[in-house]
Amino acid sequence: TGPRVVVVGGGFAGASFARALKREDRTIAVALVEPSEHYTACPMSNAVITGLRDIGAQHFGYGGLEDDGIVHVPQRVVRVDAARRRAVLADEVMLDYDRLVVAPGIDMRFDAIPGYDAAAAELLPHAWKAGEQTLLLRRQLEAMEDGGLVVISAPPNPFRCPPGPYERASLVAHFLKTRKPRSKLLILDAKDAFSKQRLFEQAWSELYPGLVEWVSLSFGGKVTEVDAPARTLTTEFGSHRAAVANVIPPQRAGAIATTIGVADQTGWCPIDPVTFESRLTPNVHVIGDAAIGGAMPKSAFTANAQAKACASALAGLLRGREPESPKLINTCYSLIAPDQAVSIAGVYQPANGLLAEVQGAGGTSPLDAPRSVREEEGANAQAWFETITQEAFG
Ligand code: FAD
Repeated sequence: TGPRVVVVGGGFAGASFARALKREDRTIAVALVEPSEHYTACPMSNAVITGLRDIGAQHFGYGGLEDDGIVHVPQRVVRVDAARRRAVLADEVMLDYDRLVVAPGIDMRFDAIPGYDAAAAELLPHAWKAGEQTLLLRRQLEAMEDGGLVVISAPPNPFRCPPGPYERASLVAHFLKTRKPRSKLLILDAKDAFSKQRLFEQAWSELYPGLVEWVSLSFGGKVTEVDAPARTLTTEFGSHRAAVANVIPPQRAGAIATTIGVADQTGWCPIDPVTFESRLTPNVHVIGDAAIGGAMPKSAFTANAQAKACASALAGLLRGREPESPKLINTCYSLIAPDQAVSIAGVYQPANGLLAEVQGAGGTSPLDAPRSVREEEGANAQAWFETITQEAFG
């Protein structure tokens, strides 16, 4: 029998990894532990929130992985015995491994903003994990009276999908302009700058003039307290009462990372940038949003790229070969309107123990581009989603 690899989490990172490892070496036994029967993808979910897309278009099953010979175990990993190399599932079944790959994504820090806990998220959704939260925010926007104030609170770095809150703001602005034109959108930000900022600001002033207001950290953007039943968000500069509030709180690696000891005091998982092996626990690798990816942003594109690099390194390690230093690419598309997008790209490689950006290799969409360029990128965004989900789930 060949070596055994257990994967924790069947998102973009875990699913892409399992398939890539099987492609590298069919003799490796791969078990993917993921409690959900199907995955609900976050990319494009901002279009679901704003009524442009059906949630069904976000669902992907694990049949494609099973066709590849990967075993989907519909369970949750609750513990790991690292000395015995054994993962323990919620039903107490134990899976022995030669290498463990941990890809649990993120959890919200429900202790970070006073008043914003799991119960508050049922009133003021974060919608930062796709599924019920996505639909809750959609229903709230649908039900809101014209003239209401929508508030999005954006988190500090690092967090899942750096341009995501601003893509959401763009599509919410489009929804308000076309459906509730007397309403306003306020973005309260815990940062002074954000990804693709000039492109987004240009889009807001051209497409949604007078509708979107962005408040930076220095001007009172950081939410310091939430009163969920009253839909009131307090900042250092005063309070805002919202008709609909989308609170995207600070984040950390999925809880299992802390339970099994691969997350450090930051809440994220330090890794070797060549093999993605945990700096804290041997024979355990961490990929995707949970990992500290150096300069690499937390995105589905990144998760997929790290998965492929990790699979290549692991297949080698299991056969006693030295891994090669990888080069990884990330591109993030963001919709600024239903059929228009802007993008940012970067190239990353190991340097000084982290994944560092290769200077001059990346870039963003041009400012002041004609609508045809934005529409072309909108089509590219759709094509990218088809490609990445096909790669991850088959
Ligand atoms: P996830 O996709 O969250 O998968 C983690 C999986 O692990 C989950 O299925 C979970 O059930 C499972 N799990 C957790 N704990 C356990 C356990 N103990 N046992 C077993 N399984 C477990 N990225 C892009 O590249 N492009 C975009 O356009 C884009 N748009 C986005 C828009 C929004 C609104 C949001 C919120 C995100 C967006 N992203 C985008 C980011 C992208 O969704 C994430 O970066 C990506 O999902 C990370 O993949 P992951 O596999 O690390 O985590």
